[in-house]
Amino acid sequence: MRLILLGAPGAGKGTQAEILSRELNIPTISTGNILRAAMKNGTPVGLKAKSYVEAGQLVPDDVIIGIIEERLAQPDCSNGYILDGVPRTIPQAQAMEESGIGIDWAVSIEIADEVIVERMSGRRTCKNCSQTFHIVNNPPKQEGICDFCGGELTIRKDDAPETVRTRLEVFHKETEPLKDFYAERGKLKTVDNQPSIEATTAAIREALGI
Ligand code: AMP
Repeated sequence: MRLILLGAPGAGKGTQAEILSRELNIPTISTGNILRAAMKNGTPVGLKAKSYVEAGQLVPDDVIIGIIEERLAQPDCSNGYILDGVPRTIPQAQAMEESGIGIDWAVSIEIADEVIVERMSGRRTCKNCSQTFHIVNNPPKQEGICDFCGGELTIRKDDAPETVRTRLEVFHKETEPLKDFYAERGKLKTVDNQPSIEATTAAIREALGI
């Protein structure tokens, strides 16, 4: 299964990707996580990406295309993958197509902007392994500590309300047109955000017939 998860920042792509990854036994590739790791390690890609990520803007397409081509060539992607947060622009989707990166379905998680802004204020991210939690909807067992690796949970800089609003604007302008791009190819499934994580997973499974 080769899936793209589409949706606004905070729609739950990362959370759903992680669940589906485990169930389907295929890796999730999150360009956001790759960029944050590169920034933390101060690599050339990280240095290039930092100002864009922190301002809530998109990192240039050529940087993203390089990252994704390299990552998808790894052997663990040979049985399928879930792409979380990529492609995010039409040129990225075209470049992926031209490189022969196959896709079975693009699943769009539909959610209202107001719900996002409220939700993002409660998001906490592990500094160490990037796992995300929510203080109300998906709290860690121990406050401030990652259930998976014991790392410290922090608020991502770009989850600040003003930056979230910028990210939503960027989403509507640059990323939402991808729904038409995949619909034209007969590859779009849309799923409404549900009141719980489990219900949204069930809706995705139903849409995909898995
Ligand atoms: P995310 O964790 O997916 O919300 O990504 C966090 C930030 O990383 C975004 O706001 C962008 O600045 C950058 N980013 C992640 N993926 C992409 C992408 N495919 N294209 C451009 N920028 C990206």
